[in-house]
Amino acid sequence: MKPRVYIETFGCQMNVADTERAATGLRQNGYDLCDSEHDADVVLFNTCSVREKAEQKVFTRIGEVRAASQKDRKLLVGVMGCVAQLEGGSIFRQSSTVDLVVGTRATDRLSNLIERARTGEHRVLDLDERAPDESWEVSPVERHSPHVAFIPIIEGCNKFCSFCIVPYSRGRERSRSAFEIIEEVRRLQQLGYKEVHLIGQNVNSYRPRTEHGLEGFAGATPFSRLLRAVAATKMARIKFTTSFPRDFHPDIVVAVEENENLCDWVHLPVQSGSDRILKLMRRGHTRANYLERIERIKSSTRRLSLTSDVIVGFPGETEKDFRETLSLVEECSYDGLYIFKYSKRRATPAAEFEDTVPEAEKTARFLELETVQRKQQNQVYRDYIGRTLSVLAERRSSRSESDLTGHSTCHKVVNFAGKESLEGEIIDVLITATKTNSLYGTLVNQSSVG
Ligand code: SAM
Repeated sequence: MKPRVYIETFGCQMNVADTERAATGLRQNGYDLCDSEHDADVVLFNTCSVREKAEQKVFTRIGEVRAASQKDRKLLVGVMGCVAQLEGGSIFRQSSTVDLVVGTRATDRLSNLIERARTGEHRVLDLDERAPDESWEVSPVERHSPHVAFIPIIEGCNKFCSFCIVPYSRGRERSRSAFEIIEEVRRLQQLGYKEVHLIGQNVNSYRPRTEHGLEGFAGATPFSRLLRAVAATKMARIKFTTSFPRDFHPDIVVAVEENENLCDWVHLPVQSGSDRILKLMRRGHTRANYLERIERIKSSTRRLSLTSDVIVGFPGETEKDFRETLSLVEECSYDGLYIFKYSKRRATPAAEFEDTVPEAEKTARFLELETVQRKQQNQVYRDYIGRTLSVLAERRSSRSESDLTGHSTCHKVVNFAGKESLEGEIIDVLITATKTNSLYGTLVNQSSVG
């Protein structure tokens, strides 16, 4: 019987995409993938290290999996992804039951590494670089959805924000060739995919080594040229995330205005509204030049949905600094906001700063900002009532048997009553009600219910 592998994924879309690639390679090399640790011969944890909590969760899960596994069964346990890259061999000391540690650039070598562990090698470790000709191929059966596909366009990060671990866990920025990206979009289109997300830590820092694939597409930056080139494939819906404020050129908005299939959603993390804190964070943008970018997004001829990330309780953040974040969030009137309490990450520059904000104060700031955001978001969501949104029906809702769920082009979760036959279709939904983080509506053309 083929060995069965279960991969559990933590963290961002990039990790989801890495899991899809790892699964593709494993199946090509004769492994079976399964949906539960109970059926597996090998359990891999694809990990996230952005915040300490995410990192701790992995070690708890390793303990649980080992405790539940039958003693007579030889189960291999591996750690891959960001925690693996950062902690390396020390993971074997932290958790003596781990057999494999596989870094962020070793996805392609996974089968070989598992094979080494299966044939008795003790503590298999690979933290090396990617092979230059590494395949980015993902088999459709391994994708997280049959309708929506993630396409990594750039990996790594060169920004070195003082709080952030990513440049250390994922290395420097490397952009994929535009030709390869466009080919992948075309293949997905032929397979019936309706939506692609161009993903990367900072998509708008995209800088491929050659022009290949961008010829004939104008634009102020390689990223806005790539957006136009991908739009020209006529893929129905194209989203992109995450954008880095300093590199956010207004030509991105122009490209979105020119092409209906470039979706009306921008995720632009601000982190703080205080210039003093932004400087300590080494973000490379000020409050004023962030707001200039927001101004361009808000004055677009299309109504662009805007979301962001904020960190509260960064070392040295005073009450005044926090008030500036509150006022910026009010000014931007975001459609959605991810709020994080600052988490000290070893070996980042901010880890050397004195963590002056007590945990209770971080929590109080988190809750206050959440209240402000919720109030605004309620208003933003209420404004959708009576409007018709184009929604990709992705799957049956987990909350109600009779409802389908999907996303609008502006990346809102939309639930509506509809039959299973509509799954995978793009349909018009009239918004009739709102919840905190979702919209509810009815199909505009009832005859299409099928
Ligand atoms: N590259 C993007 C940017 O900075 O514009 C964001 C990528 S990061 C993986 C996702 C989010 O995690 C960040 O925007 C930030 O809000 C949050 N984050 C990163 N490091 C953190 C830390 N040390 N503590 C708390 N939140 C953190």
